[in-house]
Amino acid sequence: KKTVPSDIEIAQQSSMQPIELIANGIGLKNDDIEQYGKYKAKISFEAIERVKTAQNGKLILVTAINPTAAGEGKSTVTVGLGDALRKLGKNAIIAMREPSLGPVMGVKGGAAGGGYAQVLPMEEINLHFTGDIHAITSANNALSALIDNHIHQGNELNIDPRRLIWKRVMDINDRALRNIVVGLGGPVQGVPREDGFDITVASEIMAVLCLSSDLNDLKTRLSRIVVGYTYGKEPVTVGDLGVGGALTLLLKDALKPNLVQTIEQTPALVHGGPFANIAHGCNSAMATKTALKLADYVVTEAGFGADLGAEKFLNIKSKVIDKSPDAVVIVATIRALKMHGGQEKGSLINEDLEALENGLENLKKHIETIQSFKLPFVIAINRFYTDTQKEIELLENWCNMHQAPYGLTEVWEKGGDGGKELAGEVLKAIEGGHSFTPLYSYEATISEKINAIAKGVYGANGAVFSSKAEKQMQQFEQLGWGKLPICMAKTQYSLSDDATLLGRPENFTIQIRELIPKLGAGFIVALTGEVMTMPGLPKKPAALKMDVNSKGKAEGLF
Ligand code: ADP
Repeated sequence: KKTVPSDIEIAQQSSMQPIELIANGIGLKNDDIEQYGKYKAKISFEAIERVKTAQNGKLILVTAINPTAAGEGKSTVTVGLGDALRKLGKNAIIAMREPSLGPVMGVKGGAAGGGYAQVLPMEEINLHFTGDIHAITSANNALSALIDNHIHQGNELNIDPRRLIWKRVMDINDRALRNIVVGLGGPVQGVPREDGFDITVASEIMAVLCLSSDLNDLKTRLSRIVVGYTYGKEPVTVGDLGVGGALTLLLKDALKPNLVQTIEQTPALVHGGPFANIAHGCNSAMATKTALKLADYVVTEAGFGADLGAEKFLNIKSKVIDKSPDAVVIVATIRALKMHGGQEKGSLINEDLEALENGLENLKKHIETIQSFKLPFVIAINRFYTDTQKEIELLENWCNMHQAPYGLTEVWEKGGDGGKELAGEVLKAIEGGHSFTPLYSYEATISEKINAIAKGVYGANGAVFSSKAEKQMQQFEQLGWGKLPICMAKTQYSLSDDATLLGRPENFTIQIRELIPKLGAGFIVALTGEVMTMPGLPKKPAALKMDVNSKGKAEGLF
């Protein structure tokens, strides 16, 4: 068995360029950036405004098969593909999400790539970075405090405390806070009511920040947020409470995209971080749009499998940024495919051609999904050193048989050099052009849109609505919210809403439990199955391995 350095060891051994040099390399002057230390900067609103008239580059969206406990390496491939395009002489920028502390301290680990394909400084990016997520938490909880205070101070708006839908948030997996009661202790302590916490990256404020095009749009969207209903069942908004300005103020710096670099000094905008299972799963519109102005090729990533992040990118984000991807990369690993095909996690290092063959059904479904959007795709076979030659051959033959372009990708081990084959295929795919078509029209009813996703993307027979969801659909259509797109909240592990159904499940329905209006974000969330908006920590959280030495050097961050 090979011994390989950990992600953090590789990151700490890498040297970075001062961030102003990275900025200069993409046509930004020193005045265009606001530095957060030597290696991180925010791009100023003035610079963003100035480059707006430039032509858009090509957009490459990285997505994946359904994730398994074996790990897929989507961020790793995103970073490595950006590096590889640079190695081929292309002006490429990476645009990805910022990590949430939830997974960092929990089960998954970081989200700054891996091996020799990482964004730096990885410790800072994975921990507090430039404070964006903390600002979002603060804005969210300021709103909670303002709502409770409004009720306490006489409740002029006649808000029904039992009908509030706004929750508090924190950016840690904390199951004990999912359901709480606030305001206990008598009249001076406020009005008692049920409340709960979501994880920050599932909050509507995160979605709003990621979909806003500038400060004015941010303020308009924040003011539109529905926090709950009156005793007369009329919606109450942030605008009604008169605090849209204050929330915008709290977020004014968080809205500016963050500039960092990869190990190979490729510029990367790391900004915004909604989860893809319970939120819309894409980095900020501001970062993607700015990157498109600054580069000829932008590599961006949407979370989890193509059933979640990519679907939302294509049906929600593309409309907001007024641009569809020019090519889609579907990341697959042999390990994960074998898990989809029935192999146990503990025995994945053993060759199993039958499991691999069976697991390819999952990849096949995601290919069909991307094809249904009429976009060209390339499969990135993210190579692990445990993959056997026979397994790789089987997968390559399968791709050839299905006329699926692919690139064997070794960016984790070799950085950009390991991604040249993939980059070449992606450039070819882009040249072929596309005729992007979203899956549904916003004009369709809520039920039609949810069914379109359930059938078209998940392969379900259809959606089944709880009586609560049925009632909500009627109410939302009456309130004039029926023309909004849908943001599905569903387990990432399966194409269905049952996390244990791997591969390509058939003959199933999607259970719609509840709908949540997110008028600021501009979509309706549909909660399916058992999905939860505040994750819990596993039995052995990643936090157990973390430490910092007396000099301040982090250890055990993956
Ligand atoms: P995703 O974005 O799909 O969640 P990441 O890119 O964050 O996945 O990778 C998850 C973990 O897997 C990281 O720690 C990374 O170092 C590791 N990893 C990714 N690709 C490989 C590979 N080819 N070989 C070994 N480890 C890998």
